[in-house]
Amino acid sequence: MPSISGAPLLSLVVPMYNESEGMAQFFSRALPALEGITASWEIVCINDGSQDNTLELLKGYHARDPRIRYLSLSRNFGKEAALSAGLHNTLGQAVIPLDADLQDPPELIPQMVALWKQGYKVVLATRAQRTGDGWFKRLTARAFYRLMSHLTRFEIPENTGDFRLMDAQVVEVIRLLPERTRFMKGLFAWAGFKSTRVYYDRPQRSAGQAKQDFSRLWQLAKDGIFSFTTFPLRLTTYAGAALSAFSITYAVYLFVRTIVRGVDVPGYASLMTAILFIGGVQLLSLGIIGEYVGRIYREAKHRPLYVVDEASEEGFNS
Ligand code: UDP
Ligand code: MG
Repeated sequence: MPSISGAPLLSLVVPMYNESEGMAQFFSRALPALEGITASWEIVCINDGSQDNTLELLKGYHARDPRIRYLSLSRNFGKEAALSAGLHNTLGQAVIPLDADLQDPPELIPQMVALWKQGYKVVLATRAQRTGDGWFKRLTARAFYRLMSHLTRFEIPENTGDFRLMDAQVVEVIRLLPERTRFMKGLFAWAGFKSTRVYYDRPQRSAGQAKQDFSRLWQLAKDGIFSFTTFPLRLTTYAGAALSAFSITYAVYLFVRTIVRGVDVPGYASLMTAILFIGGVQLLSLGIIGEYVGRIYREAKHRPLYVVDEASEEGFNS
């Protein structure tokens, strides 16, 4: 790949939320990995409203090496928004998002770059084993990807996080996507392009606590489903059709039985069950419609995805 003068060859994008504890370790492994490939790199760090001294540390690193750039958001906007902020501001010809906690080992980067130079536009880093995650996360992740692969036409690769190499062409597509609901893994997959994989074992987080707790991951999974498929809406149609068919059959049965056997006093239990069941199905359907209406509302407001408080240099945009 020829290097356009001024623009770096490689960009790393690192969302950081309270990552001061592991930061030294992160740079001590990321920098040699990059230097081994080229001197033409940048690391775009996004301080996602950290309460610790992540920003101060980033300023220090930037002062020592201006290729380490930072963008500080005005509050915690969440990993997906932080990642979007980073991707909007990379200059590299190949861009690699990775976590600050070293769960995405930087030692994999040379291999990814080699494949990119062979002509792949996307190089996915796929976990051979999720040993760094607990059984519950593995199970739920499994179920989620199974479901998604049934529901979408493009494949969201299983056991693959945001860690991947993307050609600038792919990043440009991501930048053009206007939606507010950012399920990045889905957007990356939606973009398409010729891709290949490298495999690795995902280690435990290097320091500090995981910031993506269960409720955030649940929200993320819902975003994935509701922003990439309308299947849940069709599901309510099918449920309605099935219930109607059943009730017509049941009505015919009751009619015939009354003619043959005469009138009997209908049971309280069956009546109660039917009312509660239908009530439940209706509320569930309303909830599903609500998920979509809520998302339409969020999109319609056109609020920016994130707000930048300060950055390492001019030219960073929001
Ligand atoms: N992160 C972020 N904003 C948040 C939560 C997380 O920028 O609100 C960053 C975090 O600093 C880390 C990456 O996203 O670099 C992944 O977070 P974490 O390790 O907590 O998630 P997990 O590995 O469990 O997916
Ligand atoms: Mg992590």
